[in-house]
Amino acid sequence: MAYLSTDRVAHHFYDVVIIGAGGAGMRCALQLANEGHRVAVLSKVLPTRSHTGAAQGGINAALGNVVSDHWLWHMYDTVKGSDYLGDQDAIEYMCRAAPLVVKELEHLGVPFTRQEDGRIYQRAFGGQMREFGEGGIAKRSCAVADRTGHAILHTLYQQNLRAKTKIYEEFFALDLITDADGCHGVTAWDIAQGAYHLFQAKAIVLATGGAGRIFQTTTNAHINTGDGGALALNAGYQLEDMEFFQFHPTGIADVGPLITEGVRGEGGYLLNSEGERFMERYAPTAKDLASRDVVSRAIALEIRAGRGCGPNKDYALLKLDHLGEELILSKLPNIHQLALRFGGVDCTKESIPVQPTAHYTMGGIPANRFGEVVSTDHDDAETVVPGLFAIGEASCTSVHGANRLGCNSLLEIIVFGRACGNRVMRRLNAHRYHVTLPPDCWQPGVERVERWLGGDDSATDTPSANAPSVATLREQMQKTMQHHFSVYRTAESMAEGVANIETLYAQLADVRISDHNRLFNTALIEAMELENLMQLARSTAASAAARTESRGAHAHEDHPERDDINWLKHTLAGLDDDKIALDYKPVRMQPMTVESFPPKKRVY
Ligand SMILES: Cc1cc2nc3c(=O)[nH]c(=O)nc-3n(C[C@H](O)[C@H](O)[C@H](O)COP(=O)(O)OP(=O)(O)OC[C@H]3O[C@@H](n4cnc5c(N)ncnc54)[C@H](O)[C@@H]3O)c2cc1C
Repeated sequence: MAYLSTDRVAHHFYDVVIIGAGGAGMRCALQLANEGHRVAVLSKVLPTRSHTGAAQGGINAALGNVVSDHWLWHMYDTVKGSDYLGDQDAIEYMCRAAPLVVKELEHLGVPFTRQEDGRIYQRAFGGQMREFGEGGIAKRSCAVADRTGHAILHTLYQQNLRAKTKIYEEFFALDLITDADGCHGVTAWDIAQGAYHLFQAKAIVLATGGAGRIFQTTTNAHINTGDGGALALNAGYQLEDMEFFQFHPTGIADVGPLITEGVRGEGGYLLNSEGERFMERYAPTAKDLASRDVVSRAIALEIRAGRGCGPNKDYALLKLDHLGEELILSKLPNIHQLALRFGGVDCTKESIPVQPTAHYTMGGIPANRFGEVVSTDHDDAETVVPGLFAIGEASCTSVHGANRLGCNSLLEIIVFGRACGNRVMRRLNAHRYHVTLPPDCWQPGVERVERWLGGDDSATDTPSANAPSVATLREQMQKTMQHHFSVYRTAESMAEGVANIETLYAQLADVRISDHNRLFNTALIEAMELENLMQLARSTAASAAARTESRGAHAHEDHPERDDINWLKHTLAGLDDDKIALDYKPVRMQPMTVESFPPKKRVY
């Protein structure tokens, strides 16, 4: 490749490079920068546009400000919510740490909504009860009105500016630099300048967020394309539990934007076309505040039974006007605006049309509770990948198992962002110097871009006449995922879905883009995001088709029961000769200090 020479690739040295400037990446960066380490954060968008900024409802912590609470009850709810697939050591760690990290956020400047007595306001969220389900609904979610993620992200961003974290905005990570000794760096593309950079570090942290854009209707931002998962997969590591994709019950019908579960936490409820409050039938105790998988399935069943609302009978109604204008405008102002803008309804007067919508990637890069990426061999022996870390929605620390509880994700990103920072420091103490990298280590990253821009031969050959465009192929992939891997799944439909996704993946090699400019080429970024999305969609499809049981978000109509004898295990999807290869590993049932919560029937 004559065009390229080493002097075209800027080479940077840091102690730590964090890919992703959402809540997870920023919390990790802060932990390290405050201790004087040289930290670089790469983000493909301006940091405050990360998806964390869209989080509405809140962050869980058993503070007990409204009704008494205990971290052990929080842990129990999380294990039960995960349909017993969550790793109980990580869950214990997270729930115990929650009160501490929320108070830390408060001291960093997050302007939490207050109660009369000045303490942090807490609201109810789905699947969360007191006293191991016996003591009524818990109020655990600490909220900043309905803009909690926005407040957390901006606070962490400002604190990082103060701590002198070096932020590379609009840098797109291309390829991990790995060898048998682990991970040593990453190549990146400066989107604005159209230039290559090699970031070398003693620790690389993947904090790239979720992959909701593999589906057609999603609450996720356009940037949620699972890039970190694809980087890991392409570097030879596996992805865990990708079949578990959360459908949020209340996306605005047809368009997708999220109406927070906090609406139901404040007293809103769902109605079918007969005006019936149907959740009373599906979840007699928790009703509208049952777990998300339960509520999404209930809406899907109501629609299937012909009790959906609207001309096509394809949505439910979320009623909240009875809460009164004052409460709505003070506690749910953002919801009021979203419903108006995207649904065309004034929710102080009318109900909002809602449908289950793809929302959260439970699976991801396998990581332990210190944020270290782990790989597992056929004999279930787990080893840490030296120098590589994963946190936040991109990771699978498996605190959410098969179904995440609302407000446990903001918690996860803060708890494990912080824990990962601490573990990285240990590594930095033991590894004082950067390794010497082979001179052409940046080559695969550069080739990835040049294949699209025409700097190598592949882009100048003539593509086959009927090769699809990036946009067409992406749409076909999203439709396939939505149709075959939605709230309910069948063996036949999933098998067809896997075949269709593989066909679409094969077509990717023929796709070309017509804009070969180097400066701010958004067509190039979308093309590389599609490469990433495809890998995530392939892993999701293959993992789902193989799991012959129903658990959490994976509702298999041919296998409607949970099967703990054969399937109480994590799926691992890797690449073998560019084909998806599946393996499995056991669930970590043993918590750190308390007794294990063994699987039992899950009722709400
Ligand atoms: C609408 C909505 C509402 C939500 N509400 C709540 C809630 O109330 N409570 C709750 O607990 N959870 C909520 N969640 C979930 C939660 O917000 C997310 O799971 C969490 O914020 C993810 O944080 P993160 O730091 O892992 O990733 P993100 O915030 O998504 O950040 C990812 C970062 O990675 C960067 N990046 C990605 N790819 C690349 C690349 N190739 N190169 C360079 N940079 C890259 C991006 O630029 C970005 O900075 C909500 C999610 C959505 C979509």
